[in-house]
Amino acid sequence: MSHLKVAVDGPGGAGKSSVCKEVARRLNLLYIDTGALYRTVGLYVKRAGIDPADRDAVVASLPALSIGVRAEQGRQIILLDGAPVGDEIRTQEISMYASRVSAIPEVRAKLLDYQRGFAEEFDVILDGRDIGTVIFPDAQVKIFLTASPEARAHRRYLELTAKGVEVTEESVLAEMNERDRADSTRESAPLVAAADAVTLDTSDLDFEGSVDAVISLIKAQRYALTPEKKKKIKREKRSYRFFYYTLGWLVRFFHRIKVTGRENVPRSGGCILCSNHIAILDIFSIGASVPRPINFLAKRELFKVPILSFLIRSAGAIPLERKKTDLGAIRRSVELAANGNLVAIFPQGHRQPGKNPADTEFKSGAALVAYRAGVPILPVCIRLKRQKYRIFRRTEIFIGKPMSAEELGFVNGGSAEYREAAAKVFSEICRLGNFEKTLPAPTETDA
Ligand code: C5P
Repeated sequence: MSHLKVAVDGPGGAGKSSVCKEVARRLNLLYIDTGALYRTVGLYVKRAGIDPADRDAVVASLPALSIGVRAEQGRQIILLDGAPVGDEIRTQEISMYASRVSAIPEVRAKLLDYQRGFAEEFDVILDGRDIGTVIFPDAQVKIFLTASPEARAHRRYLELTAKGVEVTEESVLAEMNERDRADSTRESAPLVAAADAVTLDTSDLDFEGSVDAVISLIKAQRYALTPEKKKKIKREKRSYRFFYYTLGWLVRFFHRIKVTGRENVPRSGGCILCSNHIAILDIFSIGASVPRPINFLAKRELFKVPILSFLIRSAGAIPLERKKTDLGAIRRSVELAANGNLVAIFPQGHRQPGKNPADTEFKSGAALVAYRAGVPILPVCIRLKRQKYRIFRRTEIFIGKPMSAEELGFVNGGSAEYREAAAKVFSEICRLGNFEKTLPAPTETDA
């Protein structure tokens, strides 16, 4: 699979770099501030005493230009002739130098392969002026981040004065308008939104709002479904509803189901249902108690059992290989949940008949899926009262309230967070069913 490429373009001061930096941190992407590369070329030209408007002189100086990038604790450090450039590239004077040299095609060509190279090894988010149009026309996500000139000038003014630079808001606005004009009217890679970019105006959004908006756009695009997949999901839902209405009452009759908290099931939107697991029939008991289609993760072996395999396959169950971390099943679950479906996962991995769930092990794959898809987890506890005649089950189902990313303690993702979130969910499952809570530690991240 090729790496994820997120292209964020837009005028100066729209908040591109600070927003992209935070998005990169939260989604674990490599962030490249391409404006800083042009600024570094500007600094190089200035140090060499070259007039940035003198195109021939700038082009002649390029062979000796040596730029490097180093990542240090997630921060991008740009090196010019081996030394970090630091804040020297952030002055207004260097902004103008950058704008001038960036209009020269040879300068752009020099930085082109360099920028593309990052995506060969990492999932990346690049911000600049021509990322979606020239550098990565094939980017999976393209965003044009903009804001009114006044809002942008105000932000830049605050940023500069915080650094101790003496400027007035008027001079920043004038410089910004001039740079906007130069960037949008130049012949080589002018600043325009790619035809397939989503425009996001941040004039009225604060920092958190902008970060959230960009993350939702990335998630929506990253897990966008092909028309064939959409059709398949629709077909599966139709079959599911058919089984629900034709067989559901039978299940409810034989399983003697009593449901508490049915109203906690979100009516729509992606969600991960997590339940303890007692018997294969659990999927029918839960399915018959929840009033919307569910995609169950089911062990691969069940897809070989006659009749059952037909039922679960046509109703959209996801086959799961349990002996190893099944990346395919994780990807499908994330994709379905991110697209507004309810996915059910049994975190214990195996059926644990006759055992107090609080004494069993559980895995953290469901938390990973919820984090990646950006959806809540719905805790469900299933309890069998008595099984005198095996054909009847007296089943009690307790449905808890959906647990949000915040409640689950997600910040940056990662296995430690998934384990903790899984522990919280499992302890909630045990609480719902009134089981003693002597929880063991969760095991590895496989679903
Ligand atoms: O984004 P930033 O303000 O740091 O960019 C400085 C200048 O570099 C911009 O005004 C623009 O002229 C140029 N630039 C560019 N293409 C990019 C990024 C920046 O031309 N991808």
